[in-house]
Amino acid sequence: MSEPGNVVSDAPAIDGGAPARAPVTFLDGTSSRRREVSLRLADRCEILDGEELIASWPYADIRRADGPAGTLRAMCVSAPLLARLEIRDPALAADLEHRCPSLDADLPGAKGVAVIVGWSVAALVSIVLMVLFVVPLVADRLTPLIPYAVEKRIGEVADKQVKVIFDGKQCDNPAGMAAFRKLVDMLRQAGDVDATADATVISNEIANAIALPGGKIYVFEGLLAKAENVDELAGVLAHELGHVKNRDGLRNLIYNGGTSFLIGLLFGDVTGSSAIIFASRELFQASHSREAERTADQTTIDIMRKLGRSPKPMGEFLLRVTGKEKGKGLALISSHPLSEDRLARMSQQDQAPTAPPLLTAAEWGALKAICKSPSKS
Ligand SMILES: [Zn+2]
Repeated sequence: MSEPGNVVSDAPAIDGGAPARAPVTFLDGTSSRRREVSLRLADRCEILDGEELIASWPYADIRRADGPAGTLRAMCVSAPLLARLEIRDPALAADLEHRCPSLDADLPGAKGVAVIVGWSVAALVSIVLMVLFVVPLVADRLTPLIPYAVEKRIGEVADKQVKVIFDGKQCDNPAGMAAFRKLVDMLRQAGDVDATADATVISNEIANAIALPGGKIYVFEGLLAKAENVDELAGVLAHELGHVKNRDGLRNLIYNGGTSFLIGLLFGDVTGSSAIIFASRELFQASHSREAERTADQTTIDIMRKLGRSPKPMGEFLLRVTGKEKGKGLALISSHPLSEDRLARMSQQDQAPTAPPLLTAAEWGALKAICKSPSKS
């Protein structure tokens, strides 16, 4: 072992008194550059890049930092916070450890770190609470304050996007359109839904229906094709009218915007975190929109019963379309009620029809063929 003041290294000295290269790496804490350095353990721990003295750390200020096994990683309380020495030579590491009386003492900043962690957890909790409780409240309170004209404008933007996505393939067979319009008007009047609610059938095989802010409802051909009678389709349309009546599209927009903003604050605007943002939002949104779904289902029950029909076929229809869901583990994050639960609720409200079918057999036939071009005669 070298005497104090000399270069401490097991590597052979290249020439006489010059510091030998030792497997030591230095990060100065201000740049990301890693430098191969040598150490001279004199009155202080001197760090040399070639001949140049680039730093010197008092032994009393050196602390152990977390590092991989077999490496002594050291920091210095009087050096920049992120400055590090990495010593892979066991003998050199042992020599340095021997000279540092406070190597394993508590870092003066440790309490500060604990405080920062505490505040970070508090910030996380408050953002989660905001997402869970405040944002839905704000969305609920804000929605009725937004003038209908503004919602209509927002709806037009959303409508344009939907038209682009689905290539604007609106089904317009005249006889089908007449039957569809008759059905929608009947439901709208029974549900006391604003005349701005407006439904269209889109030629696309997905089995779904959506309600946009501003009152536009889209029924996709895939859903229409699976409907076996008027009551099934009427129940779905009534449900979407419920969303329009409750302004759920606008509320969701405010809710999603607020949630994205807060989760963005939490995770930063890093591309890699967008999956986390998406997943969190889906999770947070679930409980919120389940409530909206229940309310829209209530509109179906009210409208169908008012028209002297049963809401039960809609429950059966959705179960048929989505398949059995119980046991799939989706209940927690599903944004809609389980179809089984929905059917159970609709079945409770079942009643024998007290009014004739909402459309005649001929009208229903025409509606089913709304996406077919009119037969040439
Ligand atoms: Zn819905």
